[in-house]
Amino acid sequence: MTELLEVSGISVSFDGFRAINNLSFSIGPAELRAVIGPNGAGKTTFMDIVTGKTRPDEGRVLWGERSIDLLKLDEAQIARQGVGRKFQRPTVFEDQTVAENLMMALKAHRSPWRVLVWKPKAADHARVEALAVQVGLGEALARKSGELSHGQKQWLEIGMLLAQEPRLLLVDEPAAGMTLAEREQTTALLVELAKTHAVVVVEHDMEFVRRLNCKVTVLHEGSVLAEGSLDHVTANQQVIEVYLGR
Ligand code: ADP
Repeated sequence: MTELLEVSGISVSFDGFRAINNLSFSIGPAELRAVIGPNGAGKTTFMDIVTGKTRPDEGRVLWGERSIDLLKLDEAQIARQGVGRKFQRPTVFEDQTVAENLMMALKAHRSPWRVLVWKPKAADHARVEALAVQVGLGEALARKSGELSHGQKQWLEIGMLLAQEPRLLLVDEPAAGMTLAEREQTTALLVELAKTHAVVVVEHDMEFVRRLNCKVTVLHEGSVLAEGSLDHVTANQQVIEVYLGR
């Protein structure tokens, strides 16, 4: 398998309502992908299935060079395989500094069962600094996270996710609530990350999707309605009908 993640024919129903309907999706190990679709299209449920939060009724979810069956693993095991998820609202510890937040994430990754006795070494401090630089917070290491702008908090959370060494990042609406300058920096960060990671960005904002300049997957009623460049999918008559109700 040359793809990192290969989802095929997944379906899931909630009380008889088919939220995901025979959905197939794959992404390579160094690829940026935008997933768009109207409310209720199944974007969140799709991510819940990949991370193991929701079990599909049918289908397969295969991972990595050895085609590991993620459906046989629980959420924690899937995370340890390298599936990382960033929710829309940042959940950093506001009264801790940027460095402390990053160190906490590193701790949780390095020593999940011995967090209380784990003591950071020089290499761990260096890693924290490198992570801060990577997400554009190199100058903010000693600042309390509560003082950061909304955009900076989002980057810190991406840094905390990177501390767990994911191979796939699922990122939910990263640009929401950001200033123009922050959005540009976020675009650059995601594009850079996708040189070495698979990055799935769920996004409503078409202008932001255009900036990402990547392949787009359009979900509708739990299935893939169209896939390709943004220009390609937005020229699709069915996509136009779904978005504009025509
Ligand atoms: P999106 O993220 O694209 O807005 P969702 O994945 O949240 O879409 O939802 C897809 C559909 O599945 C929606 O109609 C939603 O109401 C339904 N749904 C999602 N989760 C549940 C659940 N736990 N129980 C019942 N219905 C759900």
